[in-house]
Amino acid sequence: MSFVDVFKKLSRSELKLRLYSSTAADVECAMQKPSGDVDSLLALLSPAAEPFLEQMAQQAVALTRQRFGASIGMYIPLYLSNLCANECDYCGFTMSNKIKRKTLTDSEIKDEMRSIKSMGYDSILLVSGEHESKVGVPYFKQVLPLITEQFSHVAMEVQPLEEQDYRELVAEGLDAVMLYQETYNPVTYSEHHTRGKKKDFGYRLESPDRVARAGVDKIGLGVLLGLDDWRLDALLMGHHLDYMEKTYWRSRYSISLPRLRPCTGGVTPKVELTDKGLVQMICAFRLFNQQLEISLSTRETPKLRDNLFTLGVTNVSAGSSTQPGGYVEPNTELDQFEISDERSPQVVANAMLERGLNPVWKDWESGW
Ligand code: SF4
Repeated sequence: MSFVDVFKKLSRSELKLRLYSSTAADVECAMQKPSGDVDSLLALLSPAAEPFLEQMAQQAVALTRQRFGASIGMYIPLYLSNLCANECDYCGFTMSNKIKRKTLTDSEIKDEMRSIKSMGYDSILLVSGEHESKVGVPYFKQVLPLITEQFSHVAMEVQPLEEQDYRELVAEGLDAVMLYQETYNPVTYSEHHTRGKKKDFGYRLESPDRVARAGVDKIGLGVLLGLDDWRLDALLMGHHLDYMEKTYWRSRYSISLPRLRPCTGGVTPKVELTDKGLVQMICAFRLFNQQLEISLSTRETPKLRDNLFTLGVTNVSAGSSTQPGGYVEPNTELDQFEISDERSPQVVANAMLERGLNPVWKDWESGW
């Protein structure tokens, strides 16, 4: 049993019809009992919820402060490699892109970590392209001890692995795995993923099950907003989240809401998600799930990010580089995608403090 079995029973056409035929009365009803109810999430994500955005935002802020206080967790990505054996047309690392490829050596990782530590970070997200033979489990097992020595919270955003692989990485100190489905529409998925192991929609869809069974503490779900109808993708991610929480209640969950950004040789969004739409999504998920961590990357503009910090977001990156070796030796040719917020971590942290929020650089100590 995995989410694949649940997914097969969900009718896309029926959910879409209900999303686009929801009424103001459905939204009002959803706002009375939004927590843990996927039907309420459907109404809150629908076009009918747009006139209720102000009320949804007020509820979202109150619920976030009640659960998370004024804290915002600060994290930063460390790109280990841009090698990739997949063809994804929206990504700068896609196999056919003629860019310089690089995988960090132990000594380059140490240099990058020194630079990251000097910015104040203690929570790190390890990112790589998906290249099993050159950047696979043996490489991760080799580099994790170096990284866990320096950082008290280590997350990974790499190719989906087998359950036993995750177990071995947890034993090496891995705390969290981010695994984004990109889109829950199998047809759109196959249009954008044309070569390599990532073509297998079902294998990716059941990956969070393997992560959870291996005992990973925190699991991140996400969709690449713009590939398909964002309302339906968000709703199906809500179903996935609901299944995961009910089945694997020992793990914590987060979501990430990246919008499609320009990259070398990339595609433009098929369905545009406006700033207002992004706000609606964040509010809808906060009302649906009070425990949920919501991450915000540097893909968004400084102005929008500053406004979203106070809304329902709980984890924020800043000062990010999306290239291997980019903290020591920046080279935009190696970027995975362009970032919009180029402010330093300290400037971003000050923007939070001005809004009465508390940027938290470390909230985890494995010895306790
Ligand atoms: S999205 Fe991931 S798998 Fe696809 S090309 Fe980029 S790095 Fe490779």
